[in-house]
Amino acid sequence: MTLTTHAAAGIVVAYWTQDPLLGFFAAVISHFILDMIPHGDEFIFWRLAHNPQDAFGRRIAIGDTSGTILILILTLLFKPQPNNELIVWGAIGGALPDLFMSFQAQLKYATLPGSHGTKRRIVEGIIKTIEPFQKVHGFCHDLIRTPIRLIQGYALQIIFIVWYVGFFLAA
Ligand SMILES: [Zn+2]
Repeated sequence: MTLTTHAAAGIVVAYWTQDPLLGFFAAVISHFILDMIPHGDEFIFWRLAHNPQDAFGRRIAIGDTSGTILILILTLLFKPQPNNELIVWGAIGGALPDLFMSFQAQLKYATLPGSHGTKRRIVEGIIKTIEPFQKVHGFCHDLIRTPIRLIQGYALQIIFIVWYVGFFLAA
């Protein structure tokens, strides 16, 4: 699922809690729950994990990162009576599991193969530390195994983003 969707959803649930710390954890949980909905973009992660130069994957990643930043800026600017801390922690919590996943994949597939000695032990240590969190992430993600097309997954997410911008930001 896109980071843009996760960040927006994280902000929504953080808003419900009205508390930055609680909001952050609620946003992380919202990520796990949303990942259970089939969304059809898992292959993009694997394309990039095995070939960081993959053009299609990079275009999606750049578009998604831009979308996430745009959502954050729009929310900070236009949410009436904004609580900036809530918004930022909600967005970070919503995006965090996928940021960890990308960081871990970067370490596993790019950094580790060329590392030796102390550096290798440190990299392995970080990978191991993130692993339990990623296990929960992966479990939630794979709970409902219904492959759907990327376009269907994106259509659902676009509907959510339109609701977010049109109704949540306006409310
Ligand atoms: Zn995820």
